[in-house]
Amino acid sequence: MVHIDVMDGHFAPNITMGPVVVQGVRRATDQILDVHLMIENPDRYITDFAKAGSDIITVHIETCPKVREVFQQIRDEGARPGITLRPSTDLETIEDTLEDVDLVLVMSVEPGFSGQTFIPGMMDRIAKVREWVDKMENGRPEISVDGDVKLQNAREVTNAGADIVVSGSGVFGTDDPVTTMKEFAAIDG
Ligand code: ZN
Repeated sequence: MVHIDVMDGHFAPNITMGPVVVQGVRRATDQILDVHLMIENPDRYITDFAKAGSDIITVHIETCPKVREVFQQIRDEGARPGITLRPSTDLETIEDTLEDVDLVLVMSVEPGFSGQTFIPGMMDRIAKVREWVDKMENGRPEISVDGDVKLQNAREVTNAGADIVVSGSGVFGTDDPVTTMKEFAAIDG
């Protein structure tokens, strides 16, 4: 899938791309578009991102006082909801949301810029989410990990419990991104 990091210069100290770019990516590929909204007031933009062709829309718990309503809004727009949080936010804040989402995104760096270093304590966080998800009876969300995942640590991340790893500079910062992607895909199968 294609993971798209949307930042607004408010929630995250960087500005990246908006619905117009998502629409362009949609035209370019049939892959699942996994759109990660690192923005304030995401509820105002769900419709735009859904109409642009997002398949998964992941929101930050810190930005959604009424997070269930936002999940419903995402489903009403025909996309699948995901939940995420900053590394510095208590993990327990998302525990009650797991039954309502299709994706849990564990951020292993602070939102903002690529090229940051994986925060070591986040491995335990992935394992904790894995434990919660495995206890669920049905509708288990997938667990994705976002932030400084590269070939060198991807196996450790999946061993901790990730189903999906997100990699930006771990792919595009290598000499041969296509080969790197194949090597990623070979992990766990
Ligand atoms: Zn992301």
